[in-house]
Amino acid sequence: MPESRFIYLAGFGVQKRLLLAVAKNIKEVFGFNVRLSHISVHPLLGYDPVRKQHRADIILDYLSKVYYPDMLKLIALLPFDLYEEGFNFIFGLGQLGGNYALVSVYRLFDAQERLFFERTFKEVNHELGHTFGLMHCKSPGCVMNYSNSLSDVDAKGRFFCGRCNKILPKP
Ligand SMILES: [Zn+2]
Ligand SMILES: [Zn+2]
Repeated sequence: MPESRFIYLAGFGVQKRLLLAVAKNIKEVFGFNVRLSHISVHPLLGYDPVRKQHRADIILDYLSKVYYPDMLKLIALLPFDLYEEGFNFIFGLGQLGGNYALVSVYRLFDAQERLFFERTFKEVNHELGHTFGLMHCKSPGCVMNYSNSLSDVDAKGRFFCGRCNKILPKP
């Protein structure tokens, strides 16, 4: 039943205040209710001591074993700097058309809390967008714009353009 489907949000080593703000943002933008997940990830899972970074796909694989019967998607916020083969770093990773995603707040931080939170909302919405089957979008301001740097993140909004929005399921 659609009303019993939740987007689960997990946070490791991130402030509760941010987690609650992200939950509110997800509800606002996607319309689905959010539940907090209390799963945890070992701090050294996927850690590469040479690069001093965590491999996002290894953590995502681990997360994808978590399942709740009323779960629509699961997204995790992490404090680690993430990378993927072929990239110096990534802000996050979401399975295209799958159920699992993660976002690192490591490079999003700013002393101005509003900016820090806003950046996190954008990356969360972007990765969740991938799980709902959305590809990158060039429509100005759309959250599905590809972000390669903080200025790319800051240049886009946290909402989906009309075309992307049409593809998203409605609760
Ligand atoms: Zn993307
Ligand atoms: Zn778009």
